[in-house]
Amino acid sequence: MRRGLVWFTEDLRLDDNETLLKAIEENEEVLPVYFWTEHEQKPQFGIPRLGDTRKSFIQESLANLQQQLHAIGGSLLVLNGSPEDQITKLCKQFDIRKVYTKKQVGSEEKTSQIRVKERLLAIAVDFETYSSSTLFHPDDLPFSVRDIPLLFTKFRKLAEKESVVRSPFNPPERITVPPFEEVIMARTLSSKPTWLQGGEDHALERLHHFIWEHQAIKTYKETRDQLSGLDCSTKFSAWLSQGCISPRRIYSEIKRFEHEVLANDSTYWVIFELLWRDFFRFSFKKYPKAYFQLHGLDQQALYTQFDPSKFEAWTQGKTSEALINAGMNELRETGFVSNRMRQILASYWVFGMQQDWRYGAAWFEHCLVDYDVASNWGNWAYIAGVGNDNRGGREFNIEKQAQLFDKDGAYRAQWLTS
Ligand SMILES: Cc1cc2nc3c(=O)[nH]c(=O)nc-3n(C[C@H](O)[C@H](O)[C@H](O)COP(=O)(O)OP(=O)(O)OC[C@H]3O[C@@H](n4cnc5c(N)ncnc54)[C@H](O)[C@@H]3O)c2cc1C
Repeated sequence: MRRGLVWFTEDLRLDDNETLLKAIEENEEVLPVYFWTEHEQKPQFGIPRLGDTRKSFIQESLANLQQQLHAIGGSLLVLNGSPEDQITKLCKQFDIRKVYTKKQVGSEEKTSQIRVKERLLAIAVDFETYSSSTLFHPDDLPFSVRDIPLLFTKFRKLAEKESVVRSPFNPPERITVPPFEEVIMARTLSSKPTWLQGGEDHALERLHHFIWEHQAIKTYKETRDQLSGLDCSTKFSAWLSQGCISPRRIYSEIKRFEHEVLANDSTYWVIFELLWRDFFRFSFKKYPKAYFQLHGLDQQALYTQFDPSKFEAWTQGKTSEALINAGMNELRETGFVSNRMRQILASYWVFGMQQDWRYGAAWFEHCLVDYDVASNWGNWAYIAGVGNDNRGGREFNIEKQAQLFDKDGAYRAQWLTS
Protein backbone atom coordinates (compact mmCIF):
# COMPACT_ATOMS: atom_id res chain seq x y z
CA MET A 1 0.00 0.00 0.00
CA ARG A 2 1.51 3.33 -1.05
CA ARG A 3 0.71 6.03 1.51
CA GLY A 4 1.51 9.74 1.54
CA LEU A 5 1.04 12.45 4.15
CA VAL A 6 -0.16 15.96 3.32
CA TRP A 7 1.07 18.47 5.86
CA PHE A 8 -1.37 21.40 5.59
CA THR A 9 -0.12 24.83 6.67
CA GLU A 10 -1.36 28.06 5.08
CA ASP A 11 -3.12 26.21 2.28
CA LEU A 12 -6.40 25.28 3.96
CA ARG A 13 -8.36 24.54 0.80
CA LEU A 14 -9.09 21.86 -1.76
CA ASP A 15 -9.26 24.16 -4.77
CA ASP A 16 -6.02 24.93 -6.64
CA ASN A 17 -4.02 22.87 -4.17
CA GLU A 18 -1.22 21.20 -6.10
CA THR A 19 0.27 19.70 -2.93
CA LEU A 20 -2.89 17.77 -2.16
CA LEU A 21 -3.49 16.77 -5.78
CA LYS A 22 0.02 15.38 -6.17
CA ALA A 23 -0.32 13.35 -2.98
CA ILE A 24 -3.63 11.89 -4.15
CA GLU A 25 -2.22 11.17 -7.60
CA GLU A 26 0.88 9.36 -6.31
CA ASN A 27 -0.62 7.32 -3.46
CA GLU A 28 -3.40 4.88 -2.76
CA GLU A 29 -4.05 6.49 0.65
CA VAL A 30 -3.29 9.97 1.90
CA LEU A 31 -3.15 11.18 5.50
CA PRO A 32 -4.10 14.90 5.74
CA VAL A 33 -2.53 16.51 8.84
CA TYR A 34 -2.41 19.96 10.43
CA PHE A 35 -0.13 20.78 13.37
CA TRP A 36 -1.46 23.32 15.85
CA THR A 37 1.72 25.05 17.04
CA GLU A 38 0.34 27.93 19.13
CA HIS A 39 2.13 26.84 22.29
CA GLU A 40 5.48 26.51 20.53
CA GLN A 41 5.40 30.11 19.29
CA LYS A 42 7.52 32.31 21.53
CA PRO A 43 6.34 35.92 22.09
CA GLN A 44 8.36 38.56 20.31
CA PHE A 45 9.19 41.81 22.10
CA GLY A 46 7.04 40.41 24.89
CA ILE A 47 3.96 40.27 22.65
CA PRO A 48 2.18 36.94 22.05
CA ARG A 49 2.02 36.04 18.38
CA LEU A 50 -1.50 34.72 17.97
CA GLY A 51 -4.45 36.87 19.08
CA ASP A 52 -8.00 35.56 19.47
CA THR A 53 -9.42 36.85 16.18
CA ARG A 54 -6.87 34.98 14.06
CA LYS A 55 -7.04 31.96 16.31
CA SER A 56 -10.77 31.64 15.84
CA PHE A 57 -10.45 32.31 12.09
CA ILE A 58 -7.93 29.45 11.77
CA GLN A 59 -10.13 27.12 13.82
CA GLU A 60 -13.07 27.90 11.54
CA SER A 61 -10.89 27.31 8.49
CA LEU A 62 -9.78 23.92 9.82
CA ALA A 63 -13.34 22.91 10.65
CA ASN A 64 -14.35 23.85 7.12
CA LEU A 65 -11.44 21.91 5.66
CA GLN A 66 -12.57 18.88 7.66
CA GLN A 67 -16.04 19.21 6.14
CA GLN A 68 -14.64 19.64 2.65
CA LEU A 69 -12.52 16.52 3.06
CA HIS A 70 -15.51 14.56 4.42
CA ALA A 71 -17.41 15.47 1.28
CA ILE A 72 -14.82 13.70 -0.88
CA GLY A 73 -14.38 10.71 1.40
CA GLY A 74 -11.60 11.92 3.71
CA SER A 75 -10.97 13.67 7.02
CA LEU A 76 -8.32 15.79 8.71
CA LEU A 77 -6.03 14.93 11.59
CA VAL A 78 -5.26 17.98 13.77
CA LEU A 79 -2.42 17.47 16.23
CA ASN A 80 -1.16 19.75 18.97
CA GLY A 81 2.56 20.45 18.90
CA SER A 82 5.33 20.97 16.40
CA PRO A 83 5.74 18.89 13.24
CA GLU A 84 9.43 18.35 14.10
CA ASP A 85 8.42 16.42 17.19
CA GLN A 86 5.62 14.39 15.67
CA ILE A 87 6.04 13.77 11.99
CA THR A 88 8.50 10.88 12.12
CA LYS A 89 6.32 9.07 14.66
CA LEU A 90 3.30 9.58 12.40
CA CYS A 91 5.19 8.34 9.36
CA LYS A 92 6.20 5.19 11.18
CA GLN A 93 2.72 4.65 12.62
CA PHE A 94 1.01 4.99 9.23
CA ASP A 95 3.81 3.58 7.10
CA ILE A 96 4.12 6.80 5.08
CA ARG A 97 6.47 6.88 2.07
CA LYS A 98 6.36 10.56 1.23
CA VAL A 99 5.38 13.88 2.83
CA TYR A 100 3.92 16.69 0.72
CA THR A 101 3.65 20.30 1.89
CA LYS A 102 3.57 23.93 0.79
CA LYS A 103 6.85 25.83 0.51
CA GLN A 104 7.27 28.23 3.41
CA VAL A 105 8.25 31.89 3.25
CA GLY A 106 8.97 32.98 6.87
CA SER A 107 12.42 32.19 8.24
CA GLU A 108 11.20 30.28 11.32
CA GLU A 109 8.76 28.23 9.26
CA LYS A 110 11.49 27.48 6.72
CA THR A 111 13.84 26.33 9.47
CA SER A 112 11.13 24.06 10.82
CA GLN A 113 10.61 22.62 7.34
CA ILE A 114 14.33 21.93 6.91
CA ARG A 115 14.43 20.13 10.26
CA VAL A 116 11.42 18.02 9.30
CA LYS A 117 13.06 17.15 5.97
CA GLU A 118 16.26 16.02 7.73
CA ARG A 119 14.34 13.83 10.15
CA LEU A 120 12.35 12.26 7.35
CA LEU A 121 15.46 11.60 5.29
CA ALA A 122 16.91 9.75 8.27
CA ILE A 123 13.98 7.30 8.12
CA ALA A 124 13.96 7.16 4.31
CA VAL A 125 10.72 9.11 3.82
CA ASP A 126 10.66 11.47 0.81
CA PHE A 127 9.74 15.10 1.26
CA GLU A 128 8.45 17.45 -1.41
CA THR A 129 7.33 21.09 -1.28
CA TYR A 130 5.14 23.06 -3.69
CA SER A 131 4.81 26.79 -4.35
CA SER A 132 1.12 27.42 -4.14
CA SER A 133 0.55 30.78 -2.48
CA THR A 134 1.56 33.34 -5.08
CA LEU A 135 0.00 34.63 -8.28
CA PHE A 136 3.14 34.03 -10.31
CA HIS A 137 4.86 30.72 -9.83
CA PRO A 138 8.48 31.45 -8.80
CA ASP A 139 9.75 29.24 -11.67
CA ASP A 140 7.97 31.47 -14.17
CA LEU A 141 9.57 34.75 -13.10
CA PRO A 142 12.06 36.28 -15.53
CA PHE A 143 14.68 36.43 -12.75
CA SER A 144 15.73 34.14 -9.96
CA VAL A 145 14.45 35.02 -6.50
CA ARG A 146 18.03 36.01 -5.60
CA ASP A 147 17.86 38.73 -8.27
CA ILE A 148 14.44 40.14 -7.47
CA PRO A 149 14.49 43.95 -7.90
CA LEU A 150 14.51 46.04 -4.73
CA LEU A 151 11.63 48.21 -5.93
CA PHE A 152 8.08 47.04 -6.55
CA THR A 153 7.54 48.87 -9.84
CA LYS A 154 10.52 47.22 -11.47
CA PHE A 155 9.44 43.82 -10.19
CA ARG A 156 5.87 44.33 -11.41
CA LYS A 157 6.83 45.54 -14.88
CA LEU A 158 9.24 42.68 -15.48
CA ALA A 159 6.88 40.05 -14.10
CA GLU A 160 3.90 41.34 -16.07
CA LYS A 161 5.90 41.55 -19.29
CA GLU A 162 7.64 38.21 -19.15
CA SER A 163 5.50 35.85 -17.06
CA VAL A 164 2.09 34.27 -17.32
CA VAL A 165 -0.16 33.35 -14.41
CA ARG A 166 -0.77 29.60 -14.45
CA SER A 167 -4.33 28.29 -14.50
CA PRO A 168 -5.63 27.09 -11.15
CA PHE A 169 -6.05 23.36 -10.56
CA ASN A 170 -9.55 22.02 -9.94
CA PRO A 171 -10.24 20.46 -6.55
CA PRO A 172 -9.85 16.68 -6.17
CA GLU A 173 -13.02 14.62 -6.49
CA ARG A 174 -11.99 11.81 -4.17
CA ILE A 175 -9.50 11.04 -1.43
CA THR A 176 -8.87 7.79 0.45
CA VAL A 177 -7.46 8.14 3.95
CA PRO A 178 -6.19 5.53 6.41
CA PRO A 179 -8.41 5.09 9.49
CA PHE A 180 -7.76 7.51 12.39
CA GLU A 181 -9.78 9.31 15.02
CA GLU A 182 -10.79 12.81 14.02
CA VAL A 183 -10.94 15.50 16.69
CA ILE A 184 -13.69 18.12 16.63
CA MET A 185 -12.08 21.54 16.28
CA ALA A 186 -12.05 23.78 19.35
CA ARG A 187 -13.65 27.23 18.93
CA THR A 188 -12.23 30.37 20.50
CA LEU A 189 -14.65 33.21 21.09
CA SER A 190 -13.55 36.45 19.50
CA SER A 191 -15.03 39.82 18.62
CA LYS A 192 -14.20 39.64 14.91
CA PRO A 193 -17.00 40.77 12.56
CA THR A 194 -19.48 38.16 11.35
CA TRP A 195 -18.39 38.49 7.72
CA LEU A 196 -14.91 37.30 8.71
CA GLN A 197 -15.61 33.57 8.91
CA GLY A 198 -12.71 31.27 8.19
CA GLY A 199 -12.77 28.54 5.57
CA GLU A 200 -12.75 27.92 1.85
CA ASP A 201 -16.55 28.04 1.53
CA HIS A 202 -16.67 31.56 2.94
CA ALA A 203 -13.70 32.62 0.81
CA LEU A 204 -15.40 31.46 -2.38
CA GLU A 205 -18.66 33.11 -1.32
CA ARG A 206 -16.82 36.38 -0.75
CA LEU A 207 -15.13 36.09 -4.15
CA HIS A 208 -18.47 35.51 -5.82
CA HIS A 209 -20.10 38.39 -3.93
CA PHE A 210 -17.36 40.92 -4.64
CA ILE A 211 -16.89 40.13 -8.31
CA TRP A 212 -20.19 38.78 -9.61
CA GLU A 213 -23.04 39.55 -7.23
CA HIS A 214 -22.21 43.04 -6.05
CA GLN A 215 -19.73 43.77 -8.84
CA ALA A 216 -17.85 46.01 -6.42
CA ILE A 217 -14.73 45.24 -8.44
CA LYS A 218 -15.95 47.76 -11.03
CA THR A 219 -15.18 50.65 -8.68
CA TYR A 220 -12.46 49.14 -6.49
CA LYS A 221 -9.76 51.64 -7.46
CA GLU A 222 -11.90 54.58 -6.34
CA THR A 223 -13.13 53.00 -3.11
CA ARG A 224 -10.15 50.97 -1.85
CA ASP A 225 -8.78 53.79 0.33
CA GLN A 226 -11.95 54.25 2.35
CA LEU A 227 -11.58 53.54 6.06
CA SER A 228 -14.74 51.47 6.33
CA GLY A 229 -17.32 49.70 4.22
CA LEU A 230 -17.48 45.99 3.50
CA ASP A 231 -17.35 46.32 -0.27
CA CYS A 232 -14.91 49.22 -0.61
CA SER A 233 -12.12 46.65 -0.90
CA THR A 234 -12.08 42.92 -1.55
CA LYS A 235 -11.50 41.76 2.08
CA PHE A 236 -9.80 38.69 0.62
CA SER A 237 -6.73 39.07 2.86
CA ALA A 238 -7.60 36.79 5.79
CA TRP A 239 -8.60 33.94 3.47
CA LEU A 240 -5.48 34.47 1.40
CA SER A 241 -3.31 34.43 4.53
CA GLN A 242 -4.56 31.00 5.60
CA GLY A 243 -4.70 29.80 2.01
CA CYS A 244 -8.48 29.31 2.05
CA ILE A 245 -8.37 30.72 -1.47
CA SER A 246 -5.58 30.89 -4.02
CA PRO A 247 -4.56 34.13 -5.74
CA ARG A 248 -4.69 32.26 -9.06
CA ARG A 249 -8.38 31.43 -8.50
CA ILE A 250 -9.04 35.13 -7.80
CA TYR A 251 -7.09 36.06 -10.93
CA SER A 252 -8.96 33.62 -13.14
CA GLU A 253 -12.33 34.95 -11.89
CA ILE A 254 -11.22 38.54 -12.54
CA LYS A 255 -10.15 37.58 -16.06
CA ARG A 256 -13.50 35.88 -16.65
CA PHE A 257 -15.31 38.99 -15.37
CA GLU A 258 -13.17 41.20 -17.63
CA HIS A 259 -14.00 38.97 -20.58
CA GLU A 260 -17.73 38.64 -19.90
CA VAL A 261 -18.66 41.94 -18.23
CA LEU A 262 -16.12 44.74 -18.01
CA ALA A 263 -12.39 45.38 -17.88
CA ASN A 264 -11.27 48.71 -16.43
CA ASP A 265 -8.61 50.23 -14.14
CA SER A 266 -10.42 48.90 -11.10
CA THR A 267 -10.54 45.29 -12.24
CA TYR A 268 -6.81 45.49 -13.02
CA TRP A 269 -6.08 47.16 -9.69
CA VAL A 270 -7.02 44.11 -7.65
CA ILE A 271 -4.39 42.20 -9.63
CA PHE A 272 -1.97 45.07 -9.04
CA GLU A 273 -2.45 44.71 -5.27
CA LEU A 274 -2.04 40.94 -5.46
CA LEU A 275 1.29 41.66 -7.10
CA TRP A 276 2.33 43.64 -4.02
CA ARG A 277 1.60 40.50 -2.06
CA ASP A 278 3.73 38.42 -4.44
CA PHE A 279 6.48 41.01 -4.30
CA PHE A 280 6.81 40.82 -0.51
CA ARG A 281 6.69 37.02 -0.56
CA PHE A 282 9.45 36.74 -3.15
CA SER A 283 11.51 39.45 -1.41
CA PHE A 284 11.21 37.46 1.81
CA LYS A 285 12.73 34.48 0.07
CA LYS A 286 15.70 36.64 -0.85
CA TYR A 287 16.08 38.22 2.61
CA PRO A 288 14.67 35.65 5.07
CA LYS A 289 15.93 37.40 8.21
CA ALA A 290 16.47 41.08 7.32
CA TYR A 291 12.80 42.10 7.59
CA PHE A 292 12.81 41.35 11.32
CA GLN A 293 15.87 43.46 12.03
CA LEU A 294 15.86 47.08 13.11
CA HIS A 295 17.82 48.27 10.08
CA GLY A 296 15.89 46.03 7.70
CA LEU A 297 17.39 45.68 4.23
CA ASP A 298 20.65 47.24 5.35
CA GLN A 299 19.32 50.75 5.80
CA GLN A 300 19.44 53.09 8.77
CA ALA A 301 16.37 53.03 11.03
CA LEU A 302 15.53 56.59 12.15
CA TYR A 303 14.23 55.62 15.59
CA THR A 304 15.66 52.91 17.77
CA GLN A 305 14.07 53.45 21.19
CA PHE A 306 11.15 51.75 22.88
CA ASP A 307 9.04 53.52 25.50
CA PRO A 308 6.52 51.15 27.16
CA SER A 309 4.17 54.00 28.11
CA LYS A 310 3.97 55.15 24.49
CA PHE A 311 3.33 51.58 23.42
CA GLU A 312 0.52 51.30 25.96
CA ALA A 313 -1.04 54.56 24.71
CA TRP A 314 -0.77 53.52 21.04
CA THR A 315 -2.05 49.96 21.43
CA GLN A 316 -4.91 50.92 23.76
CA GLY A 317 -6.10 53.89 21.68
CA LYS A 318 -5.07 56.53 24.24
CA THR A 319 -2.83 58.86 22.25
CA SER A 320 -3.51 62.55 21.64
CA GLU A 321 -4.81 61.79 18.12
CA ALA A 322 -8.46 60.77 17.78
CA LEU A 323 -7.94 59.15 14.37
CA ILE A 324 -5.14 56.96 15.71
CA ASN A 325 -7.17 55.96 18.75
CA ALA A 326 -10.14 55.04 16.56
CA GLY A 327 -7.95 52.92 14.29
CA MET A 328 -6.21 51.15 17.16
CA ASN A 329 -9.58 50.41 18.78
CA GLU A 330 -10.90 48.93 15.55
CA LEU A 331 -7.76 46.82 15.16
CA ARG A 332 -7.89 45.52 18.74
CA GLU A 333 -11.59 44.75 18.63
CA THR A 334 -12.02 43.29 15.16
CA GLY A 335 -8.57 42.18 14.00
CA PHE A 336 -8.98 44.19 10.80
CA VAL A 337 -8.32 47.74 9.60
CA SER A 338 -8.19 49.06 6.05
CA ASN A 339 -4.92 49.41 4.19
CA ARG A 340 -5.04 53.22 4.49
CA MET A 341 -5.57 52.98 8.23
CA ARG A 342 -2.71 50.48 8.59
CA GLN A 343 -0.42 52.96 6.87
CA ILE A 344 -1.56 55.81 9.11
CA LEU A 345 -1.23 53.75 12.32
CA ALA A 346 2.20 52.43 11.40
CA SER A 347 3.45 55.85 10.35
CA TYR A 348 2.27 57.37 13.62
CA TRP A 349 4.08 54.75 15.71
CA VAL A 350 7.32 55.27 13.76
CA PHE A 351 7.34 59.00 13.04
CA GLY A 352 4.79 60.45 15.46
CA MET A 353 5.93 58.48 18.50
CA GLN A 354 9.46 57.97 17.21
CA GLN A 355 9.76 54.35 18.24
CA ASP A 356 11.42 51.12 17.10
CA TRP A 357 9.11 50.04 14.27
CA ARG A 358 9.39 46.33 15.10
CA TYR A 359 7.25 46.66 18.26
CA GLY A 360 4.48 48.04 16.07
CA ALA A 361 4.86 45.19 13.58
CA ALA A 362 4.74 42.65 16.42
CA TRP A 363 1.54 44.23 17.77
CA PHE A 364 -0.05 44.01 14.30
CA GLU A 365 1.07 40.39 14.11
CA HIS A 366 -0.76 39.71 17.37
CA CYS A 367 -3.96 41.53 16.39
CA LEU A 368 -4.46 41.02 12.66
CA VAL A 369 -6.88 38.34 11.55
CA ASP A 370 -5.14 38.40 8.16
CA TYR A 371 -1.59 38.40 9.50
CA ASP A 372 0.83 37.27 6.86
CA VAL A 373 4.52 37.26 7.67
CA ALA A 374 5.72 38.81 4.40
CA SER A 375 2.91 41.36 3.97
CA ASN A 376 3.08 42.55 7.57
CA TRP A 377 6.82 42.82 8.11
CA GLY A 378 7.41 43.92 4.52
CA ASN A 379 4.88 46.77 4.76
CA TRP A 380 6.13 47.85 8.17
CA ALA A 381 9.75 47.95 7.01
CA TYR A 382 8.61 49.93 3.95
CA ILE A 383 6.81 52.56 6.06
CA ALA A 384 9.70 52.76 8.52
CA GLY A 385 12.09 53.43 5.63
CA VAL A 386 14.15 50.26 6.00
CA GLY A 387 12.44 48.09 3.40
CA ASN A 388 11.81 48.01 -0.36
CA ASP A 389 11.96 51.73 -0.83
CA ASN A 390 14.56 54.42 -1.20
CA ARG A 391 12.55 57.40 0.00
CA GLY A 392 13.32 57.11 3.73
CA GLY A 393 9.89 55.89 4.81
CA ARG A 394 6.34 57.19 4.70
CA GLU A 395 5.31 59.86 7.15
CA PHE A 396 1.60 60.66 7.07
CA ASN A 397 0.12 63.93 8.27
CA ILE A 398 -2.67 62.78 10.60
CA GLU A 399 -4.76 65.93 10.28
CA LYS A 400 -4.64 65.79 6.50
CA GLN A 401 -5.51 62.08 6.49
CA ALA A 402 -8.50 62.75 8.75
CA GLN A 403 -9.64 65.51 6.38
CA LEU A 404 -9.25 63.28 3.35
CA PHE A 405 -10.66 60.02 4.66
CA ASP A 406 -12.86 60.89 7.64
CA LYS A 407 -14.11 64.35 6.82
CA ASP A 408 -17.45 63.93 8.61
CA GLY A 409 -15.83 62.19 11.60
CA ALA A 410 -18.06 59.12 11.23
CA TYR A 411 -15.16 56.68 11.49
CA ARG A 412 -13.83 58.34 14.64
CA ALA A 413 -17.32 58.48 16.14
CA GLN A 414 -17.81 54.77 15.49
CA TRP A 415 -14.57 53.58 17.11
CA LEU A 416 -14.19 56.10 19.90
CA THR A 417 -17.52 55.40 21.55
CA SER A 418 -17.16 51.63 21.79
C1 LIG B 1 1.59 48.28 8.19
C2 LIG B 1 0.87 47.30 7.30
C3 LIG B 1 0.74 45.98 7.70
C4 LIG B 1 0.08 45.06 6.87
N1 LIG B 1 -0.05 43.76 7.27
C5 LIG B 1 -0.67 42.85 6.47
C6 LIG B 1 -0.80 41.49 6.85
O1 LIG B 1 -0.31 41.05 7.89
N2 LIG B 1 -1.48 40.64 6.01
C7 LIG B 1 -2.00 41.08 4.82
O2 LIG B 1 -2.61 40.28 4.10
N3 LIG B 1 -1.84 42.35 4.42
C8 LIG B 1 -1.21 43.25 5.20
N4 LIG B 1 -1.09 44.56 4.78
C9 LIG B 1 -1.50 44.91 3.40
C10 LIG B 1 -2.93 45.43 3.25
O3 LIG B 1 -3.16 46.47 4.16
C11 LIG B 1 -4.00 44.36 3.44
O4 LIG B 1 -3.70 43.25 2.62
C12 LIG B 1 -5.38 44.88 3.02
O5 LIG B 1 -5.71 46.02 3.75
C13 LIG B 1 -6.42 43.81 3.26
O6 LIG B 1 -7.68 44.24 2.86
P1 LIG B 1 -8.33 43.75 1.51
O7 LIG B 1 -8.23 42.27 1.40
O8 LIG B 1 -9.66 44.34 1.42
O9 LIG B 1 -7.33 44.38 0.45
P2 LIG B 1 -7.57 44.84 -1.07
O10 LIG B 1 -7.31 46.29 -1.14
O11 LIG B 1 -8.86 44.38 -1.56
O12 LIG B 1 -6.39 44.11 -1.85
C14 LIG B 1 -6.53 42.82 -2.45
C15 LIG B 1 -5.46 41.90 -1.89
O13 LIG B 1 -4.18 42.37 -2.32
C16 LIG B 1 -3.22 42.15 -1.30
N5 LIG B 1 -2.68 43.45 -0.85
C17 LIG B 1 -3.29 44.65 -0.87
N6 LIG B 1 -2.46 45.60 -0.44
C18 LIG B 1 -1.31 45.00 -0.11
C19 LIG B 1 -0.07 45.45 0.40
N7 LIG B 1 0.17 46.74 0.69
N8 LIG B 1 0.89 44.54 0.65
C20 LIG B 1 0.70 43.22 0.38
N9 LIG B 1 -0.45 42.75 -0.13
C21 LIG B 1 -1.44 43.63 -0.37
C22 LIG B 1 -3.94 41.47 -0.15
O14 LIG B 1 -3.76 40.08 -0.27
C23 LIG B 1 -5.39 41.86 -0.39
O15 LIG B 1 -6.31 40.93 0.14
C24 LIG B 1 -0.43 45.49 5.60
C25 LIG B 1 -0.29 46.83 5.23
C26 LIG B 1 0.35 47.73 6.07
C27 LIG B 1 0.48 49.15 5.63
